[in-house]
Amino acid sequence: MSSPLWPGRGGPVIDYISAMPSRDYCEKKSRSVTILGSTGSIGTNTLKVIDEAKAFFKVEALGAGRNIKLLAAQANRYEPSHLAVQDDLGAARLRDLLKPGYAPHILWGEKGYAKIAALDGVDCVVSAQSGSAGLCGTISACLAAKVICLANKESLVIAGGLLRNICNATGAAILPVDSEHNALFQCLAGHGQNALALILTASGGPFRGRAFAESRNMKAADALRHPNWSMGAKITIDSATMMNKGLEVIEAMHLYGVPSDSIEILVHPQSIVHSLVRLADNSLLAQLAVPDMRLPIADCMFWPQLPAQPVHPLDLTTCGPLAFEKPALDDFPCLKLARQAACYRAAGPWLACGLNPACIVLNAANEEAVDLFLKGQCQFGDIPAMVEAALDSLAKPENLHCPEISESTTGGWEDAILLANSVRILATQAKTTARQCLAGHRPEILS
Ligand code: MG
Repeated sequence: MSSPLWPGRGGPVIDYISAMPSRDYCEKKSRSVTILGSTGSIGTNTLKVIDEAKAFFKVEALGAGRNIKLLAAQANRYEPSHLAVQDDLGAARLRDLLKPGYAPHILWGEKGYAKIAALDGVDCVVSAQSGSAGLCGTISACLAAKVICLANKESLVIAGGLLRNICNATGAAILPVDSEHNALFQCLAGHGQNALALILTASGGPFRGRAFAESRNMKAADALRHPNWSMGAKITIDSATMMNKGLEVIEAMHLYGVPSDSIEILVHPQSIVHSLVRLADNSLLAQLAVPDMRLPIADCMFWPQLPAQPVHPLDLTTCGPLAFEKPALDDFPCLKLARQAACYRAAGPWLACGLNPACIVLNAANEEAVDLFLKGQCQFGDIPAMVEAALDSLAKPENLHCPEISESTTGGWEDAILLANSVRILATQAKTTARQCLAGHRPEILS
């Protein structure tokens, strides 16, 4: 089944990561949903979208991290059959907070998230955990041939090629929730093979217009003040360093099957134009809306329908002038580092399995650096230095031996799953290297 609504598949320009959902899914009168990351910004907005269409969506499972109190409140309200949390202690606390007479299955850890992503009877999985923790649930949903509303961009950064292979094998379908990629998805409908370039817009974050030297001593509180979007802490810091846009370039490469040099970045401080596609005739297609994540979430969850949403209509006569500028690459070194990782030429089993070790290192070192920054243990300017040190030290063929599978692998996704241990080891090494770089001038970090 194909549809003019689906971005092009199989080239010559766009080779979208998955086929579209089945006719059966598209025509269902109701959809059963698992939300991974239900207490985060995307998760809570997803529940607001569901609240507007209670007859259409059934919440079958909710997974969250540390916010047990909010998860319990959500569970008592929506009564899903399954819940998942980080660990057994959280599971016990959660059970104590559930209302009398309601006794769902409570699971924990990566296996718990994987289980609720693959439940029989679940049609649609919203993958919205923060950071690399989201990968396990995304892979599980892909293996179980679900329709995945994907907000966790790190899944694609770490293992985009692997997810593509699994989708091809199982028929799982991916819909992009990230606002820029959702905008591209809408612009590419019916135009995929006429695209010349994908143009991701970027607000520029709170430090736009400042020289790197000026922002390097900023505190977490300054970086957490995003001008347009209300989001979780990790992605807000990534927006301030513009690593978020770097990760989004890698995300777009995997979703749309295009090289890094076909993806441009355009700074647009108002966050009204969510992204654009340049067509073969040099005209541009853009998607515009008020910055409200309920729109891309609803677009994915209702796809292929597009029902009304309780969001203010965009009024171009009152929203003020729209400005566009080139990104200042020298002031946002994380952007350059992400491009560098995106272009890394993987080899051997990594390449065969659709994994880019440089992107794994980039993501892990960045997660470690952002974590230290949020705890007040490093400065804003240390973040790119830590990521660069990890890339310089680890993204080399001699460091990328992976004993789990033979060099002659054909790259089936079963082999790639075996690589998970190598991915973990590499990510841990990247975090250690990032900390050692910092310890060069702040030794207490390693203690
Ligand atoms: Mg985004």
